[in-house]
Amino acid sequence: MQVGKLIVLTGPSGVGKGTLLRSLLQRHPELYLSVSATTRQPRPGEIDGQHYYFVNRDKFEQMVSAGELLEWAEYAGNYYGTPLTPVERQIQLGQSVILEIEVVGARKIYHTFPTALRLFILPPSLAELEQRIRGRGQDSEEAIARRLSRAKAEIEAADEFDVQIVNDDMEQALLLIEAAIFG
Ligand code: ADP
Ligand code: 5GP
Repeated sequence: MQVGKLIVLTGPSGVGKGTLLRSLLQRHPELYLSVSATTRQPRPGEIDGQHYYFVNRDKFEQMVSAGELLEWAEYAGNYYGTPLTPVERQIQLGQSVILEIEVVGARKIYHTFPTALRLFILPPSLAELEQRIRGRGQDSEEAIARRLSRAKAEIEAADEFDVQIVNDDMEQALLLIEAAIFG
């Protein structure tokens, strides 16, 4: 049996990764979406074990020390990380696994899982990125400012990744993602 692929979708917060991913999973239900662990508080409607595993900082640090995470990073004051065992299990079963993670963690995958396909999603412009973050209506002014200042540095790192895709027209971006994964 062939092993599955590891696919990493990264890019700045608000660029549309989550939205693109939901459409991609609808079209390709065979893809396995990894559920991350985080120390951030759940947003209204988020379910433990489905959107994230919500853990405290002590538990997260234990997971790091025990080598239970494929990658992890601190983002906007919270820890986020990918549990290793489910990813390895699915890949061994021949299932392709997709991670939707921020840029620092995605960069680490290059070393821990060199065969991964790493896709970087770019916004059409910084002004459009700000509009999307504001339009989502989920972040405080302070969080928006932190996300935007981090986005500038993240976008400069886009060339380090295997494929760069601008999420302007969503359908077009999806076609490019599909071509990178299945083409
Ligand atoms: P991320 O997961 O990268 O943080 P989201 O998927 O939450 O980003 O998207 C942020 C906002 O941008 C959402 O309100 C979403 O509807 C919107 N959005 C996503 N893709 C596009 C697009 N191609 N054109 C316009 N708005 C978009
Ligand atoms: P949010 O708080 O908006 O859910 O996520 C903030 C950022 O953390 C997003 O860019 C998201 O892609 C990223 N993220 C989610 N899970 C992980 C993870 O397991 N590892 C890393 N490095 N980033 C993650």
